[in-house]
Amino acid sequence: MGDHYLLLTPGPLSTTPSVKAVMLKDWCTWDDSYKHIVQLIRSKLLHIGRASEARYTSVLMQGSGTFGIEATIGTVIPQDGKLLILANGAYGKRIEQIARILGIGYRTLEFAPSQIIDVEQVDTLMKQDPAITHVAFVHCETTTGILNPLEQLVQAIKRHGKIAIVDAMSSFGGIPVEVEKWGIDYLVSSSNKCIQGVPGFSFVLCNKDELAKCKHNARSLSLDLYDQWQVMEQEEGKWRFTSPTHVVRAFSQALLELEAEGGVERRYVRYLENQQILVHLMESAGFKTYLHEALQSPIITTFRYPDFEHFSFESMYLFLKERGYVIYPGKLSDVQVFRIGSIGDVHLEDMVGLCAAILSYATNIGE
Ligand SMILES: *Cc1c(COP(=O)(O)O)cnc(C)c1O
Repeated sequence: MGDHYLLLTPGPLSTTPSVKAVMLKDWCTWDDSYKHIVQLIRSKLLHIGRASEARYTSVLMQGSGTFGIEATIGTVIPQDGKLLILANGAYGKRIEQIARILGIGYRTLEFAPSQIIDVEQVDTLMKQDPAITHVAFVHCETTTGILNPLEQLVQAIKRHGKIAIVDAMSSFGGIPVEVEKWGIDYLVSSSNKCIQGVPGFSFVLCNKDELAKCKHNARSLSLDLYDQWQVMEQEEGKWRFTSPTHVVRAFSQALLELEAEGGVERRYVRYLENQQILVHLMESAGFKTYLHEALQSPIITTFRYPDFEHFSFESMYLFLKERGYVIYPGKLSDVQVFRIGSIGDVHLEDMVGLCAAILSYATNIGE
């Protein structure tokens, strides 16, 4: 297999040959044809999130997903604002770290990584602390693969009149989301997750009336979401600083392929089927999932280390990589786990092949 392998990781993930192919050329940034592509991407992203152009806009931002989160947190919360962070994993905690470093007032409501964010507790806290202006949380916590109750949480947040910020990094494009109907104010995702592009930029679906209030809020020049929006609007698809042209082209191709597949609804079904066969085969091979089935997303699955004698993650990882599969280490401090993604250009036969290799590893070490 050499160095050719399938990424069973939650982004970067396996992309199609046709997405990779459009990057084999140098592309300019300043002319109308490029700006037209950017504008088309912006409008397609709204369409995927079921948000109207009348009330929403989408802003693209250079950098990985975290840059998009940091641009959003750093731009939309005013000096006298207070952010409530709901966290049940490492990405929720990362939002907290951003708020701390930027000097934004915040408080965190934390849950165990094996539990979803509890809507009632959030509701109670919002009642008790009227200083809260914004609430941020992660939709699919990639730390474990747990799926938080997005619609119910946003409903509660909006009932209290707060601004809802959602890190939908690992779910947008793979799980249907109703941004406008549910009232999400800001939704952040990136080029290298369920849209199946390559890494290089993040994007934010924004409630325009809210974003319009955010001039001069930003704590950073390059991560100023408001300013990026203004330039993209006024100059019809221009980014303020050098944009990742190849990545943008690849993303535009990835969007065409998402449409060809049948949109988010169809892609969701493919991911779900991948995930279900994965769990079925892994359980047959003697592995157990970390999460209760009802809390599990179709994006990524966490498995406990098995009690096979001689098992080590490192040896299994290398065994699988030699056979063309790259899986993902765990991210929990107290439990020994590893993770397998079911997103990307990955299909049932890949899951079957992976699990056959895992079974072969288990048999090998048992001998
Ligand atoms: C991937 C991911 C991010 C962003 O991570 P980057 O390494 O900056 O791309 C943020 N939140 C979640 C839930 C993610 O899965």
